[in-house]
Amino acid sequence: MKLYYSRLQIELTRRCNQSCAHCCRGESQNIDLTKEIVDEYFEKNEIYYIGTLLFSGGDPTLNGKILEYIVDKIIEKEIIVDMFMFGINGLSYSDELVNGLNKLRDYILLKSEKQRHWPGVLMVSQDQFHKEANPEVVEKLQRLTYFSPINKHIMKEENILPYGRALENGLSKQQPDLNKLIDYQKNYRIREYKGDTYLVISYQYISANGNIINDGCQSYDLMDEYALGNVQNQCIEEIYTKGPLKKLKRL
Ligand code: SF4
Repeated sequence: MKLYYSRLQIELTRRCNQSCAHCCRGESQNIDLTKEIVDEYFEKNEIYYIGTLLFSGGDPTLNGKILEYIVDKIIEKEIIVDMFMFGINGLSYSDELVNGLNKLRDYILLKSEKQRHWPGVLMVSQDQFHKEANPEVVEKLQRLTYFSPINKHIMKEENILPYGRALENGLSKQQPDLNKLIDYQKNYRIREYKGDTYLVISYQYISANGNIINDGCQSYDLMDEYALGNVQNQCIEEIYTKGPLKKLKRL
């Protein structure tokens, strides 16, 4: 079955050079996405389309080299990608990461079915919780056509996710919702089109340790506990059609 994603999010690393009070991830972890995990994912699955490809962390610049490796796989497999979205905290710069993004931008412009003129966006998170971005890093980023101007803003309480450090610090007004982690059936369907069968997935998160998660707006601990499976020992079709290996408990 071919994979057709509306949104696919890939966690490049769980390392971070900040420790924001509102971080929904919780404590950073010394885990990087590896070439071996990326190989397993692209070899076990036939990916046809990714609408929006999101990259996250931790701070992705701390594992920039894996981004270029992923992009090379996408190009080698001729996967159609419409656009990318990328967020960093602006403290460090990675040539490897920018090389990878430039390559992805050029590939999207060349191959996209929609021939977009806006292939993606790179943003720097700046609010009352993040440290001020490094001016030298910002100066370099501003040369990139897909860099979004920094929007320093006050993050409202209602927008802070109730997980990780935000939960410990009592910063969110929301209640934790584990159903989004569990209800993976709502996020996929199987479709026939012109003689091919597609597993159409509206959203999927691949964590740096290879876990497949139904909701990426959670803490690392919850995402691991509620993982649907892992790309190192299962293909995505199996994970969705057979269901999680262990029963996921509701609150
Ligand atoms: S919010 Fe982002 S920059 Fe801040 S600690 Fe969490 S992952 Fe790091």
